[in-house]
Amino acid sequence: MERIAIYPGTFDPVTKGHIDICERAAKMFDHVVIGVADSLAKEPFFDVNERTEMLEMVFANNPKISIRPFSGLLIDFARDCESQIIIRGLRAISDFEYEVQLAGMNRSLANEIETVFLTAAQHYAFVSSSLVREIARLGGDVSEFLHPSILQKLTDKLESSKT
Ligand code: ADP
Repeated sequence: MERIAIYPGTFDPVTKGHIDICERAAKMFDHVVIGVADSLAKEPFFDVNERTEMLEMVFANNPKISIRPFSGLLIDFARDCESQIIIRGLRAISDFEYEVQLAGMNRSLANEIETVFLTAAQHYAFVSSSLVREIARLGGDVSEFLHPSILQKLTDKLESSKT
């Protein structure tokens, strides 16, 4: 049986930190489905279609990784993907509390689903989508943290949101 993992998040936008986690997960499992949460409560900068398209662009050459937008409960999305494994990335202690709470809640809702944590690559441990957006908005260089095509999308969107 194929072992499918899901990697859910907002990806607003996808950073090299996310890419690293996802590629490492793809080495551990037969297939990884990236779940792009609509996260409406977070009022994302990019809408869910834009975030999905950006991820499709980044992973176009990796047949082990596919992308699907979702809304609603994460455990329902996992079941829909026929997956019993949720991948999450851990950067710092600050992620830990929330992530452990989320994993515990998901386990109580769906006992068969396991959360697997991968620690961030040292180089990307301080990278978050929100920080990257903010630095870029203020004119800082974030090219080290974004895939070139994502950097272009972010630059374009920041430019058009100014007008
Ligand atoms: P969410 O809204 O679910 O927190 P994010 O897109 O911010 O979505 O993050 C998705 C997952 O990726 C989370 O588990 C988060 O901790 C992890 N993550 C985010 N940035 C990094 C990074 N730089 N390195 C490793 N993991 C990361």
